[in-house]
Amino acid sequence: QKRLGILTSGGDAQGMNAAVRSVIRTALKLGATPFAVMEGWQGAVDGGDRIKQMGWSDVSSILNEGGTVIGTARCPDFREKDGRRRACKNLLDHGIDRLIVIGGDGSLTGTNEFKNEWPELVAELLEAGEITKEVAQAHPSLVIVGLVGSIDNDLVGTDMTIGADSALHRIVDAIDNVSSTAASHQRTFVIEVMGRHCGYLPLMAAVAGGADYVFTPENPPRLGWENDMAEKLTLGREAGRRESIVIVAEGALDAEGNHITSQDVANVIEEKLGVTPRITILGHVQRGGTPSAYDRWMPTLLGYAAAHEILNADPAKPANILGVRHNRVTRIPLIEAVAATRNVGKLIEAKDFDAATAARGNSFEK
Ligand code: ATP
Repeated sequence: QKRLGILTSGGDAQGMNAAVRSVIRTALKLGATPFAVMEGWQGAVDGGDRIKQMGWSDVSSILNEGGTVIGTARCPDFREKDGRRRACKNLLDHGIDRLIVIGGDGSLTGTNEFKNEWPELVAELLEAGEITKEVAQAHPSLVIVGLVGSIDNDLVGTDMTIGADSALHRIVDAIDNVSSTAASHQRTFVIEVMGRHCGYLPLMAAVAGGADYVFTPENPPRLGWENDMAEKLTLGREAGRRESIVIVAEGALDAEGNHITSQDVANVIEEKLGVTPRITILGHVQRGGTPSAYDRWMPTLLGYAAAHEILNADPAKPANILGVRHNRVTRIPLIEAVAATRNVGKLIEAKDFDAATAARGNSFEK
């Protein structure tokens, strides 16, 4: 019987539980034995009861829960070869050589390196007498499948990552709440949202929340934005709006590549308009709470596909990510997708904003 592990790594995202539940139940239906590796890679490095065999009812009632019930962590040990050797040994102790990993680009990169290194780790464990020849021969390679959990919606090549839709709902709820108090007092609010290198959350929140102005990382405002913003906010008030809302991404930049903070924006508003805006930094609220309907059914479809993929994948072939692309569950080469995502970040840092936008939009279009 084939054994597979599932783990969630890096930052948590709503909808990870739906994927975990779907993988485990699909694997059981397919006659495989699923295990949850608890607390991300830390569970693999620590082994023992942190690698848990899962049954059907172990994932009952988690579909509507936020976060990840199998835990996640940033695991420094896994960045070291010794940590990965221990992870390999612990997985082999449970007969696991197939892993589904849900995480961001960091987790997926680490997972891919682990896959590449696996034969070497197995040879070292054999040489050290920590595993038998039979075990080494039975598990010569590691099969992995990646799913992307990230509220930023930043993976190049996919329409939506797990958690982004729920985070957007959370932000729009916050804008609605702030708008009503802002309107009562005719106030101006500056709302800071997540998005280090990806403007999806700030831009969509601004559109869906009816904001007056938005700052994103990859589409910086033109030089002289201070006057432009002041003018737009004034026009809004003159047209009868009782509140002004400005959205700022945590990674917002100006045209010269300088970081624009929510405090910078508030200072400009105070200076130009003579009002003191309130700053609201949403922070982890965006990651919290129940997943949206989309973040339940979409990861369920991905989990189902991932369980099939992991049980049938050719270990000799490069690893894939499963993601939603053009509204279909699609297989995307892991290395290329992660490299393209990181390239967008580098282009933004190099202030080549047009190239960054083009790289995000055009990758994988054939
Ligand atoms: P998020 O988008 O929330 O930041 P992420 O998956 O990109 O998620 P990281 O902190 O980059 O988050 O990585 C999570 C964990 O994955 C790390 O703590 C580490 O255990 C593992 N990892 C990341 N990169 C590597 C790597 N190059 N080699 C080995 N392990 C890695």
